[in-house]
Amino acid sequence: MKVLKFGGSSVANPERILSVIKIVKPYLDKGEINALVVSAFGGITDLLIQASTAALSGKEEFKSHLSKIDQRHLDAVRGLTNMQRQSSILAQVKVVINELEDVLHGIFLVRERTPRTLDFIMSFGERLSAYIISEALKDKGIDATFVDARKLVRTDNHFGSAKVDFATTDKQIQQHFGSSKGLQVITGFIGSSPTGETTTLGRSGSDYTAAIFAGALNASDLEIWTDVDGMMTADPRKVRKAFTVPEMTYSEAMELSHFGAKVIFPATMQPVMSKSMPIWIKNTFNPTFPGTCIHEHGNGKHLAIKGISSMDAVSLLSVEGSGLLGVVGTSRRLFGVLASEKINVILISQASSEHSICLAVETKHSSRAKEMIEQEFQYEIKSGEMDEVHAEDGLSIIAIVGEGMKHNPGTSGRMFNSLGKSGINIYAIAQGSSELNISAVIREEDTSKALNVLHEAFFLSDRKVLNMFLAGTGLIGNTLLNMISRQKEHLSTQNAIEINLAGVANSRKMLFDEHGIDPATGLDRLLAEGTPLDEVAFREKIKSLNLSNSIFVDCTSSESVADYYIDILNANISIVTPNKKANSGNYSRYAELKAVRQKRGVKFLYETNVGAGLPIINTLNDLLLSGDKVIRIEAVLSGTLNFIFSSFAVGKHFSTIVAEARTKGFTEPDPRDDLNGRDVGRKILILAREAGISLEIDHVEIEDLVPHELSKVETVEEFMKQLPKYDSHFEKLRSDAAAQGEKLRYMAVLDESGVKTQLAGVGQQHPFYSLAGSDNIILITTERYKERPMVIRGPGAGAEVTAAGVFADIIRIANYADR
Ligand code: ADP
Ligand code: ASP
Ligand code: MG
Repeated sequence: MKVLKFGGSSVANPERILSVIKIVKPYLDKGEINALVVSAFGGITDLLIQASTAALSGKEEFKSHLSKIDQRHLDAVRGLTNMQRQSSILAQVKVVINELEDVLHGIFLVRERTPRTLDFIMSFGERLSAYIISEALKDKGIDATFVDARKLVRTDNHFGSAKVDFATTDKQIQQHFGSSKGLQVITGFIGSSPTGETTTLGRSGSDYTAAIFAGALNASDLEIWTDVDGMMTADPRKVRKAFTVPEMTYSEAMELSHFGAKVIFPATMQPVMSKSMPIWIKNTFNPTFPGTCIHEHGNGKHLAIKGISSMDAVSLLSVEGSGLLGVVGTSRRLFGVLASEKINVILISQASSEHSICLAVETKHSSRAKEMIEQEFQYEIKSGEMDEVHAEDGLSIIAIVGEGMKHNPGTSGRMFNSLGKSGINIYAIAQGSSELNISAVIREEDTSKALNVLHEAFFLSDRKVLNMFLAGTGLIGNTLLNMISRQKEHLSTQNAIEINLAGVANSRKMLFDEHGIDPATGLDRLLAEGTPLDEVAFREKIKSLNLSNSIFVDCTSSESVADYYIDILNANISIVTPNKKANSGNYSRYAELKAVRQKRGVKFLYETNVGAGLPIINTLNDLLLSGDKVIRIEAVLSGTLNFIFSSFAVGKHFSTIVAEARTKGFTEPDPRDDLNGRDVGRKILILAREAGISLEIDHVEIEDLVPHELSKVETVEEFMKQLPKYDSHFEKLRSDAAAQGEKLRYMAVLDESGVKTQLAGVGQQHPFYSLAGSDNIILITTERYKERPMVIRGPGAGAEVTAAGVFADIIRIANYADR
């Protein structure tokens, strides 16, 4: 025989109850079950508590809660039973609801709600549901009997979480089943004390009721039917990629549920363990899925970790002082006083110095616990041997659980490494000597991130998800989105990398969707659904979403975006950008960015700051990291200027070439922004800084090609109109160079004499001589590359190559992130 239990969400409304009946029917046909345990209809227990709380504070609104409760049950009867039988069932439900109303009214009048009354009130949920479900079963021709478990489950009178007296309970259950036939439909969650008062087994205790019956009846299996596909690697509401664990041991299930895996009540394992009875967790909404089997052997060694769970609303109490050192009995007194107050200690951590003990309790007990400990140790505190108890609220506990960690050194290393990399601060750590669980106390707001980070580290170590936020949807940003969209499939199948675009903004709008914005339609969605851009709100949201492996991609050229890089890095979010502003601004900020990046263990990649997609910065860094020293850098770093000067031949006017470049979109909207050399200046400044030279932009000697009088001309059109006046000047420079067999090139030079940009002639032997179109070239002379410099050459501008460079940096981060 099997015992089946259906939870609140499985019986939340008439349709669901009908699905439950459909699931139960084949078992009945095969004669496999005689006991069905049910919870209150989903949400009813909470409503009962709310109604009583309202009554307690004298609020008439308890009546509206009551009428909601009333309505849901009457609706269920109407939806599940046929007309002839309905009126007597409705009358019976009404009797029970009237009884509930009387009790609530009593609370309203006397303004008192003892734990005993609360248990009585909560019992109505299961009493009503089991009764209605038994009638619904009868309606389908099934021989069913409603059983009020208070008659059978004997407990002590610790209201709210009563202890079961198994000797009496088992006997009563066996007697009942010995003399009854048909399917027994049993109320979960409730019992009664020796003096007949109603008790409850603790919130979510219906699982436990089912186990108690299964144990007493020596059932072959216990099946817990709920709203998920079994016991999963993490709470699927918090970790989207959680998946079902097919098997686990009793201890693993107990440990996971103790630390918050609500899917099964922690004590459930207890009555069935000694009988080696398997517990199945099955999904009412997906009944053919096998679910999870919890049993003795549970394939414990297959996965090192079986699950990750978390528990919110935790407080940490630190008890410290020299007086604790080696004093026998301190712990006994400490835990004794908490036990006498019935305060459950969730986690304990003690340094071997015995100088301090840290313990975690539920926040609702925190101030009481502090008070009781301080009272117990009042003399020690007075004499200064012990400090006042320090209580920290707003924390949570995350735990990784699995018997396999016994055989796997490095589990804790992996756990703390991933948490650390994500900037999650750890307040206390505990690992049981059984090596079944490692738990850590963290800030509550980090819980979701921690769960996801750990889930990735332990379960998806062959996959990597990057959560990307993009600022700027201009030419580069948009090209990048298209590239990501095209590569998505390949990245996922070939590299096990997933890029989840969680937020996007341009200069007008912003949009967030942590479940992912399709990059192919990201821009359309931004325009359609985006809210007006608020830069501060954008930045704060990226931080507060606190997603694992977050990465901020700045495809703007904005100074104000660069201004918040430090803040972003400090939140443990990596940055990729082609925007030069941050690196070519004040040296102090450049240095700070590097320092913060180092301190936080995040990445700040900007290969595309210089030479678009050409591997210049990475190459330079690799040379320096491997101990090389830069002697000289000589480079053509402006595609625009190179286009202009490589097109500048006999018979061509300088101004015509500039106009042509402008029409082709090769220049900035105002060509003076290219001709003034500042952009090249910024690029060589960044290279100089990368080479270890602390330099400001003012130290770069920049040759400005804009004729002085034209720099003040207001409009671009006017500038273009006047430029021909200077054609003879440029022609002279060109012909002088040509006379020497040289061509003009606008180049940046770094050597021992300094850093400068200049228009100069290069001879036929020089590698720049043949440089055509908008290509960039860089020659790096180092101690190792002294005889012949290292040459990097190729297209150094354009949306495609720049976006590709940004994309490559993003992938670099994915490869670096924990696997
Ligand atoms: P029921 O009403 O059936 O008793 P519960 O709400 O008590 O159901 O428990 C099921 C819920 O437990 C799931 O919806 C899920 O959100 C949560 N849960 C927490 N941790 C886990 C886990 N590791 N595996 C599966 N579910 C979990
Ligand atoms: N109905 C009770 C609760 O909500 C017991 C249960 O559902 O298991 O806590
Ligand atoms: Mg439950």
